[in-house]
Parts: sequence; structure tokens; C-alpha cells
Amino acid sequence: MACVVCGAETKGRALLCERCFGRMEDPLSLLPSALDPTADVRLNQVASVCLRIGPASTGDLNFSKGMEPALRLREIMSSESKDQMPVFVDRFLAGLGIGLRLRGDERLPRRGIVWSMLQGAREIEFEGEVWARASTRMGNVEALLVREAMRLPIERSASVPFAQSHADAARRLYERGSHSPSLERIVLVNGAVLLHFQGDTEEALRALDGLLSSETSDSEKTDIRMWKAWILADEGRNTEALQVLEDIPPEAVDYRIRRVRRVAGGKE
Ligand SMILES: [Zn+2]
Repeated sequence: MACVVCGAETKGRALLCERCFGRMEDPLSLLPSALDPTADVRLNQVASVCLRIGPASTGDLNFSKGMEPALRLREIMSSESKDQMPVFVDRFLAGLGIGLRLRGDERLPRRGIVWSMLQGAREIEFEGEVWARASTRMGNVEALLVREAMRLPIERSASVPFAQSHADAARRLYERGSHSPSLERIVLVNGAVLLHFQGDTEEALRALDGLLSSETSDSEKTDIRMWKAWILADEGRNTEALQVLEDIPPEAVDYRIRRVRRVAGGKE
């Protein structure tokens, strides 16, 4: 095969060569992104209070310093304490549709700011619930990157180390998330799914089974079963996938569960 960008011969049916992959400036361009012209409107309407004035403990945040996220980020990064970072990252990623629970069908609208924000937030340490939430959301973005790198036809010599380093980053972020009791279980589920994204499917299924058999809420059970079925269907193990879905009570069935069922060849 040949690289679609430079035409060089590639190994293993890859369509992007190691060199061109290495030239990619924004890794998030690997993600399936949403052409979502409403995202900025949503940010202004839904998250405006937090993004503009936030639950600020210091008085240095006001409208005149800009409500535009890119400006806010620059301002925060250049401030000494960077103490507005947690609430900014948490609200911004939530506004872009990145939840605490990894869903797998997230569509991150293209914003150059997102990658620079992730890089900027990587080395900063804070205490508290908001940072744990922000970190969990960032971990989910990293996990999605891992999946795309492993799924797309990129030369393995480039994609495997890339996926490994982003999986490591995701785990560090989930570890921060686990500092919050309310997120402890959520990051365990996300981390189990990440194993599958990396190609370690059996390990992922074992981890999900372990979480399913431990004490957990009904809604979390549904989430875990959805993921189990998703992973099994991903592997072509459709009969097992449909079996897992049968344990989900009808009132908990949502569009994602219906979709997995469809993919696994079950009835709507
Ligand atoms: Zn190339």
C-alpha cells in the first residue's frame, strides 16, 4: 500500500506512513469530529456562567478579560496560580460533549484550543472534586485517541507507540479522577474500556466482569453491560453480545444499547 499523503510505500496495508503521521500537529485530528456549528453557541449559553465568571474564589475573573475560551485559556496559563484551570477545563470539555463516563460515540468539535489545553493541564496538580472531574474528562479524550490510533490504517511503527503514550496519559488522568469518591468507580470502568481500545480485549472483559460482580448501582451495571456487549460485538462475538444485552432491563435501554444490539445482529 501507499501513504495517501506522500505516496511512499507503507507496511501492513497502512494508508498513512510513519513520517506523515509524525508531522501531524494536532493529534485530536485523528478523532471523528463533529462539524458542530452550535458548539460555541452552546458554550456561551449553557456554560457561560462558569466559563465567564466561574465559581471563582479570586476576584481576578471578569467579563472584560474575555469570554472567548482561547483567550481565557491563555490568561489562565499565564497567571501565576492557574487556579482557574480546573473549572475551565471541566466546563469546557463538558460543553464540548466529553462526559465523565466514557461513551465511545463522543464527537469532539474541532477546536485548536483543546489540544493546547490538554498539554497545558498535563503537568498541573490541584486538589479537589473539580480537578478530578476535569482530569477524568481529559482522560476520556486521551482514551478516544488511543482507539482511533489503533483503528485507523496507520503504520504500526507509528501508531502503536503513539497509542501507548496516550494510554499512559489517560491512566495518569484517571488516577487523578479516582481521588474523588464519586468518580472512583467511573474511572475504573473507563480504564477497563481503555484496555480494549489498546487491543487487550480479554483483559478488558475480565476487568468489566470484576466490576459487574462487585457492589454497584443499577445504572452502572447497565453501563458496564453496554460496554461488554459493545466490546464483544467489536470482536464479532455477536451471540455473547446479545446475551449480555438481555440482562439489561427494558426501561434502561437507550439509543446506544439499541445500536449495539443492531450491530450484533439482534432485533431492534
Ligand atoms: Zn506519508
